[in-house]
Amino acid sequence: MQKAGDTMAQLTDSIKVLPGIGPKKAALFANLGISTLGELLRHYPRDYEDRTRIVPIKDLEAGTAACFVASVVTNPQTHAIPKPGGKRLEVTKVTVADHTARLHLTFFNAGYTVSRLVRGEQYCFYGTLEGDYLGYGMTNPLFEALNSAGTLTRRIMPIYPLTAGLTNKAVSQAVQLAMERCSPPEILPEEVRQRQYLCSYSQALRQIHGPDSHEALEQAKKRLIFEEFYIFSTSLALLRSKRCLRRTGRMEIDGMEEFYHALPFRLTGAQLRCIGEILGDMASGQPMSRLVQGDVGSGKTMVAAAAAYCAAKNGAQTALMAPTEILARQHYEGLSLLFSALGIRLCLLVGSMTPKQKKDCREQIAAGDYDLVIGTHALLTEATVFRDLRLVIADEQHRFGVAQRATLLEKGRQPHLLIMSATPIPRTLSLILYGDLDVSIIDQLPPGRQPVESFLVDERYRARLNGFIRKQAQEGHQSYIVCPAIEDSETESLKAAETWIQTLRESAFPDLRLALLHGKMKGSEKEAVMTAFAAGAYDILVSTTVIEVGVDVPNATLMVVENAERFGLSQLHQLRGRVGRGKAKSWCILVSDVKDLQTRQRLKELCATTDGFKVAQADLKLRGPGDFFGQRQHGLPLFRVADLVQDLGILKDAQEEAAHTVASQRLPEALLEAVEALLKDGYSPN
Ligand code: ADP
Ligand code: MG
Repeated sequence: MQKAGDTMAQLTDSIKVLPGIGPKKAALFANLGISTLGELLRHYPRDYEDRTRIVPIKDLEAGTAACFVASVVTNPQTHAIPKPGGKRLEVTKVTVADHTARLHLTFFNAGYTVSRLVRGEQYCFYGTLEGDYLGYGMTNPLFEALNSAGTLTRRIMPIYPLTAGLTNKAVSQAVQLAMERCSPPEILPEEVRQRQYLCSYSQALRQIHGPDSHEALEQAKKRLIFEEFYIFSTSLALLRSKRCLRRTGRMEIDGMEEFYHALPFRLTGAQLRCIGEILGDMASGQPMSRLVQGDVGSGKTMVAAAAAYCAAKNGAQTALMAPTEILARQHYEGLSLLFSALGIRLCLLVGSMTPKQKKDCREQIAAGDYDLVIGTHALLTEATVFRDLRLVIADEQHRFGVAQRATLLEKGRQPHLLIMSATPIPRTLSLILYGDLDVSIIDQLPPGRQPVESFLVDERYRARLNGFIRKQAQEGHQSYIVCPAIEDSETESLKAAETWIQTLRESAFPDLRLALLHGKMKGSEKEAVMTAFAAGAYDILVSTTVIEVGVDVPNATLMVVENAERFGLSQLHQLRGRVGRGKAKSWCILVSDVKDLQTRQRLKELCATTDGFKVAQADLKLRGPGDFFGQRQHGLPLFRVADLVQDLGILKDAQEEAAHTVASQRLPEALLEAVEALLKDGYSPN
C-alpha cells in the first residue's frame, strides 16, 4: 500500500531510499549482491517456515516449534534476580491455557513486552516446548493478539539467504518496504498468463515473499519459473528469427555419390539422415547453425567429412576445429587418404608446428590452396585468414565456449556452423546449452560393434585386475589406466598418474611397456606418446582424462578407471568410449573403494547401460546440471528459481508461448528489456 505523498521508486533506485537502510546496512545488503530495489525484490526466500498450523497445547511436541492459541489465565509475575556485576535478570512468568491443557511460559528480560498480555484475553503464541515428564514449559515464545493480522504467527514465514550482521527480520522488512514503494512491470503478455493460468507478477512477488497459503506459494513459484524460461526462450526465438534474416550463398548439394563410393564402409541410416539435414541447410541460402549429437563411436567424423566435401565441391573452404592437437592430428590422418583420393586439398595447422611451417601454411590458406583446414583453437585465436571460409566445423564442442564460437564466425562471410558434440546431453539441456541451434541426432552405431562390458570393482580385486591387464597385453591388445590426478597430493589420497605408473612398473608389470600421458606435458610430448601408443609401441597407457575426447586406438580393449567415484557418469561414458572401437571384445573396469551406497549405485548405473543419452539423463538426475555447464565462464544463463531437473515441463510450455509471442511480433516493452538484459550478461550464442 502506497502512502499518500510518497513518490513511487524505480527498480534501479538504491535500497538506501528505504527508511532504516543507511550506508552500514546497505553495505551488508551489498554482501548479498543487493544494491537496488529490483535486486532486493528478486532476493527470494531460500525456504519457508510453516506457522499456519495451530496445535492444541496437549499436542505440542518438545523440541518442535509450533503455534498455539491460548488464553492468559494468571497475571504476569516479574522477579528480578541479581547477577554478578550488579546486573539483574528479569524473569516474567505467566500461565496460559486452551481447552486441552495449561502451559507455563517464562520470559527473560521481556517485562515490557509481556505486560501487554492481559488476563482473560486470547493470543496466538509461537514457541518450542521444553521439558520432560517432570514438567513442561516454554521460554520466550512470540505472541500476537488473536484479533491482529498475523505477522509472526499463523502464516508461512519466508527464510532468506543471509549474511553476517543481517537478520531474517531485517531482510524481510526491507523487502516489504520495497514492495510498497515500487510496482515492477508485468513481463508476461495478458493472453499468455490466461492460457497458462499464471498469476500476475505483483501477485507472485507478494506471495513469494509472504505466502498466504501453500497453494498461493506454489502459484507464485510456478509463475516465476515460467517467466524465467519464457524470457530465456524468447531470447532464443529472437536469435533464431534474426538468423533467418541472414543470407548466404546457396550451395549445390548434388554429386555426393563420389564421396559415398570412396568410403570403405556404408554409412548408417542415421549418418545419412544427418548428412541430409546438413546438406539441406547448406542449400537453403541461410547460414546453418546445427549441432550433431551422437554417442561415442557413432561416426560423427564422416558426417563432418561429408559436409566438408560438399563445401569443397562448391569451391568453399572449411575449418575443422578439434579441442586438442592429438585429435586434430588424428582427424587429419584419418581424412587424408579419403580426401586425397577425392582431390580435396587438406592441411593441418597446430601449435607444435614451427613458426615457419605455420606461416607458410597460413599463406596457403589465405591464397585458397586448401579446401579443408584442420586444427585446434590456435586456428581461431591467432591470425589465420581464409580466402573463402564458408563452413566451420567444431568437433567435440563442449570444449569450445560460446564466445569462441562467435570469434570463429567472424572469420568468414556468414559461414555455416556445424558443431559435433560427443557428450550426449539430455534434450532439454542441449536446448539451453546450444540454444538457438538446430539439432541432428545420430542414434545408431555402425554395425558389428560389440558393446563394451563394464564392471565396478574395489581394491580386493586388484590382483585379478592386474592379471586381466596382463592378459590383454599377452593377446596383443592394449589397456588404458586413467587416474584422477597427475601428482600425489597431501590432502587427498587419490591415484596419481605419475606415482601410479611408478608402482606398476616396479611391482606388477616390470616386463610390460608402460607410457605416461597427462595434461601438464608439452603438446609435442603428448603427441609423441599418443602416436606411439596408437602404433602399438606400448601395452599400457597410464593417463589422466586427457584421453577422454575422441582418441581412436582400435587395438585398445581395456579401460581401467581408478577412483571412479571422482568422475561424472558422462565423463566415464566418454572414457569407456575409448575402447570397443575395433573388432575385439572390450571391457571397462571402474575401480572404487568408496563404500557409500549411493556412489556405488551411480557407478553401477553406468555399468548397466551403454546408451550415452541414458547415462546423461542419469547424470543430470543424480548430480544436477552442473557437470554439463562446464563452460559457465563463457556466459551461460543461470536460472534463479527454475530447476533444470524438476521444472522441465514448464520449460516446454514457456518455449511454445515464446515462439508464439515472437511470431506475433507483439513483445511487451518489459519483455524486450528483460531479453536484452539476458543477452547482454547471460547468453550470447552467435
Ligand atoms: P565419433 O562419433 O565418436 O566421432 P568416429 O567418427 O571417430 O566416431 O567413428 C568411430 C569409428 O567408426 C571410426 O573408426 C570410423 O571410421 C568408423 N565408422 C564410422 N562410420 C562407420 C560406418 N557407417 N560403418 C563402419 N564404420 C564406421
Ligand atoms: Mg569424434
